[in-house]
Amino acid sequence: MTDITITDFVGSAWWLIGGALLLGFIVQTVQQRRARMAGERSRAVSDRATGAVLGSAAGDALGAGYEFTNPGPDREIAMKGGGGFGWAPGEWTDDTQMAVAILDVIATGSSDLDAIASNFLAWYEAGPADVGNQTSSVLGSAAIPEDLAVVAVAFMDANPGAAGNGALMRTGPVALAALDDRTEIAGLAGSIASLTHAHPDSVAACVLWSLAIQEAITTAEPGQAFDWEAAVRNGLEHVAEDRQEKWDALITEAVTGPPGLFNPNGWVVTAFQAALSAIINTPVPAEQPSDHLRDALVAAVRIGHDTDTVAAIAGALLGARWGAGAIPDEWNTLIHGDRRRDSEPVPGTELEQLARKALNA
Ligand SMILES: [Mg+2]
Repeated sequence: MTDITITDFVGSAWWLIGGALLLGFIVQTVQQRRARMAGERSRAVSDRATGAVLGSAAGDALGAGYEFTNPGPDREIAMKGGGGFGWAPGEWTDDTQMAVAILDVIATGSSDLDAIASNFLAWYEAGPADVGNQTSSVLGSAAIPEDLAVVAVAFMDANPGAAGNGALMRTGPVALAALDDRTEIAGLAGSIASLTHAHPDSVAACVLWSLAIQEAITTAEPGQAFDWEAAVRNGLEHVAEDRQEKWDALITEAVTGPPGLFNPNGWVVTAFQAALSAIINTPVPAEQPSDHLRDALVAAVRIGHDTDTVAAIAGALLGARWGAGAIPDEWNTLIHGDRRRDSEPVPGTELEQLARKALNA
């Protein structure tokens, strides 16, 4: 048996206290580091989530002045407004107006379809300057929000070949409603599309694009590579089984390009392919990779025809990957537009706040 003296005991106690203090220090340092990393990650995620909304608005406003034209390679692409509807420089069009109608609901923490349908109808009844044929036909035939999906199916039955790009153009904010749940995003993207565009190809396009946006927002860390094609293809398992093979082939066609192949692009399929093709076939600049957002949006407009819509679609995914911070300052200061024709114009800063609210709702 060993005798323990008081001196030994006090010495051991000091060792224990010292050890406990050191352990506490280490635990605290690790926790602080984790909290800092989480903060940085959430800031990056937040930038990319707002980027999905603002990038789409930027593409829309960039393409607005060139709608239904085919700008040649020598023509400068600038956020100059004009076009067939006399847009102001930086003003977004119906694509973003309808995205705002969706975002306004998501920002309240809801994804209630009747509330979104109600916003669509209020937007339509206020007399938008521009509205697509299919959207106009459906919204003009529904008396109440609850009717919308039924009217959209009736439109599809009466016009089996019609599948315009009008739902895909506004799908940018949908992923923000359920960033951690891909099944929920797929369901929502399909249901929101079906309020006006019930065709299975319209639904498939919105599901694939919304899931690619989700993947970009949640995984595309700065400085790391991002596989655009894989991100789009990864959504195929959420597409109706009888459409998967078709969309797999359509994606292959789009990445093979060239982008000019996807004009005209009023059809949801070619609009989707045009946007994906512009993104994939535009090189990522080595010096400032995030300039890819600007370059690919210019490429999207250069494809021609429905320029604002193709660039709005491309902008949602580009913004989700590169973040709102990648939007050039000269565009950011100009971006604005209507919520409805009878309401106060929405500045870009308000759109950004709305996207943040939707993300945190
Ligand atoms: Mg438009």
